[in-house]
Parts: sequence; structure tokens; C-alpha cells
Amino acid sequence: MEVQGHYIAGRWEATSGRDVIEVDSPTDGALVGAVVAGTPADVDRAVAAAVEAFEGWAVTPLEERIRLVRVLVTGLEAHREELARTLSAEMGAPLDFARGAQVGVAIKDLEALVAAAGELRPRRAVSGSLVVTEPAGVVAAITPWNFPLHQIMLKLGAAVLAGCTFVLKPSEVAPLNAAIVARLVHEAGFPAGVVNVVHGNGAQVGAPLTAHPGVDVVTFTGSREVGAVVARAASESIKRVSLELGGKSAAILLPDAPLEESVAAVLGSCFANTGQTCAALTRALVPRQLHDEFELAATRLAASWTPGDPLAGARLGPLTSMAQRQKVAGFVDRAVNDGAEVAFGGRAPDGFDGAFYEPTLLTHVTPDMEIFREEVFGPVLVLVPYDSVDEAVALANDSRYGLSGAVFSAHEDAALEVALRLRTGSVGLNGAGLDVGAPFGGYKESGVGREAGAWGLEEFLEFKTVMGAAHLA
Ligand code: NAD
Repeated sequence: MEVQGHYIAGRWEATSGRDVIEVDSPTDGALVGAVVAGTPADVDRAVAAAVEAFEGWAVTPLEERIRLVRVLVTGLEAHREELARTLSAEMGAPLDFARGAQVGVAIKDLEALVAAAGELRPRRAVSGSLVVTEPAGVVAAITPWNFPLHQIMLKLGAAVLAGCTFVLKPSEVAPLNAAIVARLVHEAGFPAGVVNVVHGNGAQVGAPLTAHPGVDVVTFTGSREVGAVVARAASESIKRVSLELGGKSAAILLPDAPLEESVAAVLGSCFANTGQTCAALTRALVPRQLHDEFELAATRLAASWTPGDPLAGARLGPLTSMAQRQKVAGFVDRAVNDGAEVAFGGRAPDGFDGAFYEPTLLTHVTPDMEIFREEVFGPVLVLVPYDSVDEAVALANDSRYGLSGAVFSAHEDAALEVALRLRTGSVGLNGAGLDVGAPFGGYKESGVGREAGAWGLEEFLEFKTVMGAAHLA
């Protein structure tokens, strides 16, 4: 079995004699690959490479940075199938979903960032001053396993287009796609040290990377809990930090919502990627008179979310690991103890060895329950009735999270009015999904900052004011 090594200063580091992290398939437990388990010394070498490369990369003309990212896009396109199969094998996403929502979206992320970079204004005059846009420095990126390639590309693309150099610590649960990224970066011809990849776990690689004195910006996507640890570590040396964390997003069906379409859209959001989507709609808020109809329609439609081998056409793959399944099952069991009722699902399906869990709907859920408040990160939807639109908005906003949400109504104006009352970074009207290039991020404890497009680039830019130099703009 090939062990993937770190990619530092344009070279792959030797892997023999090193501790490794094995990557198991969540579908059947088979070994699908392995990466080197990094150490703080590896982090030091990678940051040193990024610091050294920064001087040259920061002054490389924007057109050249754009050209190299476009070559990377071509490489990703040429390896679409390899990437999709790797993702499917290592984290369990159904192959079609991996091809589209994972790899396809990652490519579109880069294209949108290239378009936004083309609009950058390197210099502008403000009164008597010249305002210069500059790269923020060395970026440390830490990413999760659920949309691993998409998360990497949002960070890598924005950082290098902004003129920053980059050290990535991908998720140790799904690192094999990142090893392919390192190869494609190398083949694209980026100068040595501009992009570095250090594999490993949070304690040995993530923590030293976030605290490293050579790092200027930390960009993290992952859980709220680890996000708080990362923010604390980075604050010691006053690094800029952006955080994309979890969510408990609500779908509000207004009384005139088209029921069948709305239910299909909510289930699609909640069950896709086996519920392991940060912006998943996991709380369905429905007018009390539609509660039973919603439950019936959801029960009918859930039958089409049959679990199976993600590489063989199943719509619902396994959760990403047995540990994740245990976590999800624990949430559902505690919800039932708290008084929730299982309308469907609520168990691992029969006949599977892997980390499978049935699509699940819970009713009789109240706002004081853990299942209403905490992110499950599995295919678990809760159904909660409301009596007035004001109550629906209050229920939706009754969360420490504020990542996303949805409103369904036959009247778009009414839906928009409710959407504008939600304290979330995005809201979908009538099932609309996020457009690539529009800002993505959270209010409240869902995070700090925005990714994608022009907003994503800004996270990696500094603005310098040169007084008395406006006429030199
Ligand atoms: P996680 O927080 O466990 O891990 C994320 C990354 O942090 C991993 O690479 C991990 O190795 C690293 N890490 C762990 N401890 C660390 C430490 N002390 N210092 C630095 N790094 C450390 O999250 P996960 O389980 O990989 O992903 C699932 C979570 O990610 C969910 O909560 C989900 O909502 C969230 N997520 C959010 C978004 C978003 O954009 N808002 C997108 C995807 C996932």
C-alpha cells in the first residue's frame, strides 16, 4: 500500500520509517490508503517553506497567479473521476454526488475565485491617500472530511490568488483527495513552497500550525468546539482567523408552501451526503395544520433514500466512520429518552457491516431538547409545528448557530420577508441552493468571515494606506 507523504517546498517527503494514519472505507472497513502522521517538526518545515516563498509569490503578477490556478483547474478536470472515486471510497459520498457536489463544485469554486481576482483593484485613491491591496502573508488552512475537496479549494484558491502562500492540514479522516491535490499543484507548476500539504491529526499538526509564529492567517473549517480551540491558539499571536463551523439550520414552510416539493427539498438537504453537510436543513418548522401531512409525505419520500454502496449507485452512502455512526445514534437515542418519537429510521439498517444509518425523522421535539439545538451531522430531521409566522421565526433563530436556512411559500415576497428576519449567513427560497461565488459563512457561533468569490479573497488581503500619495494611484 502506498503511503502519501507531506508535500513541502515542492517535494514529497520520504515516508519510510514514519508513523502512518490508515484510511478505512466506511462502507466495508477495507483499507483504502494511508498518509504519514505529521509532527510539529513537519509543521516547522512547511511554514518555513511558505515564509521563504512568500516574498516572491506576493509580487508575482496577478495574471500569472491566475494562469497557474487555471492550470490547476484543468488538472482537476482531467482527474475528476479519480478524485470522485477517492472521495467516495474514503468518506462514503455516493459516486454521483461526489462527481457533482464534491468535485464539480470544487472546480467551480476555483473558477469563481479566478473571476473575482480579475476584479481586484490593486490600487485606489481615497481622498489624499493611496490605498494598496496586499497579500496578508502565510496562510494556515485546516479542513474537515465532509466536503474535503471543496473546503480545500475555497481556501487554497483564494489564498494563492490573493498572493499568500499556503500550508494545508487536511482532515486525517479523508486525506487522500488532498494528496491528489498536492500532485496537481506540483504538475501545474506553482513555485516551490507556495502550496504545502502536511498530513496528520489535530494535536500533532493542527495545533502547532495554528499557533505557529510564521503564520499570519488561520482559516479553519470544522466543528464549533475545535474552532474555539483554534481561535484561542491563534489569538496568542493576534493572527487573523476565519472560522466556518457548524449549523442547525431551519426550514420554515409557510402555510401556502407547496407541500410535496417543499418536503422533497428539505429531505434532499438533510439527507444528501448522509446528513454530513454543515448547511443541512435539519429542523423542519411547519404550520400545525400541516404537521401530519408533512410527516406522511416525508415518510413516503424517504423510501427513495435507500442505503447502499456509494461506489455502486446508492443514493445514501454510509456515514464517514463507525465513530460518526455511534455519535449520530447517541443523539437519536437521547432524543427518544427526552420524549421525541421516531416517525421513520432511527436505527442502523439491517444487512450492512459499514457505518450506515437510516434516514430519520423525529417528531414531538421541543426547543429545550438537545436534538433541537445541537448539530447531529447525520441524516436526522426534526419536525416541529408552529402556530404563527412570528413563532416560526423565533424558533428558527432560537439557536446558537446561524449558518443557513430556508423558507418555502407560494408567494416569493412573503418568503423573502421571512428570510430577511433569519439571523443566518444564507437562506434558500423554495429549495434554491447556494450559488458558487456568493459569500458563504455563518452568523453567531457558526463562524467568522466569509468564503467564496470576492468575499473569500478579502479574507487573505491587507489594505495599506499611503498618505499623501493619491495622485500616484
Ligand atoms: P473537526 O472540528 O473535528 O476537525 C476539523 C479539522 O480540525 C480536522 O482537520 C482536525 O484534524 C483538525 N483539528 C482537530 N483538533 C485540532 C486542534 N486542536 N487544532 C487545530 N486543528 C485541529 O471537524 P470534522 O469532524 O472534521 O468536520 C465536521 C464539522 O465541520 C461539523 O461540525 C460541520 O458542521 C463542520 N463544517 C462546517 C462547514 C462550514 O463551512 N461552516 C463546512 C464543513 C464542515
